[in-house]
Amino acid sequence: MADADGLGTRADLVERGDLPLLGQDVSRTYRLGIMGGTFDPIHYGHLVTAEQAFDDLDLDVVVFMPAGRPAFKQGRNVTSGEDRNAMTLLATSDNPHFVATRFEVDRAGVTYTADTLELLREIYPDNVELFFITGADAIAEIVTWREAGRIARLAHLVGATRPGYDLDRADDLISGSPYDFDVTYLEVPALAISSSYLRERVSGGQSLRYLTPDSVTGYIHKHHLYGVVPTRYVSVLEEGESS
Ligand code: ATP
Ligand code: MG
Repeated sequence: MADADGLGTRADLVERGDLPLLGQDVSRTYRLGIMGGTFDPIHYGHLVTAEQAFDDLDLDVVVFMPAGRPAFKQGRNVTSGEDRNAMTLLATSDNPHFVATRFEVDRAGVTYTADTLELLREIYPDNVELFFITGADAIAEIVTWREAGRIARLAHLVGATRPGYDLDRADDLISGSPYDFDVTYLEVPALAISSSYLRERVSGGQSLRYLTPDSVTGYIHKHHLYGVVPTRYVSVLEEGESS
């Protein structure tokens, strides 16, 4: 099987536990969901969207893929890939049909969605279909990207929307595009949660409870991410360590 961008063979990737093994039974098709994002940090909006896509689109598994160096977030100081990957692992660890992968984090340079999808297309056999899950706003942008044609050829798109969200703009852009996009929309009630909102709350000393799993909050505190205001618990631990 192809050596994908120096990452190793398909068997190597699967053995490392990074990507799920799919496509073994040639008499059926498999449906692989891909949830890409910066995940800085991951939150319940991402998790509930992936779960709903899993159910509604009858997916076999959803892979969470923290972006290496996102093409469109170069202005902001993005948290290290290691930390974003660790939080993604923690958040997905108790769901049997979620898998976190270092696939993009381990790739050098800026990561583009079309390249990622092309690599996955090389790694997986033809009976594995790719479903790229993203916010509906992002779908409206994707159809205008330079790589739009490649993306349309490689994957189905799943656009998460908020109830009552107006899809007209996205629909206009998609129907006006020269490419044949296959898009399914999902209504996700928790859509108002965002990583920026979580970062703001952390730096303001506010709780993240019910916005992201406690394991993620614990990691943020332990590793002092997002200008965390140390809690008494963390301060006591640190005093202990230095004496
Ligand atoms: P930021 O606030 O830093 O932009 P974010 O919350 O949008 O972060 P990203 O990592 O940028 O998170 O998003 C990853 C993917 O998840 C994108 O496709 C985005 O549209 C989608 N997404 C983000 N928040 C939600 C949410 N609450 N519900 C559903 N999808 C979401
Ligand atoms: Mg965003």
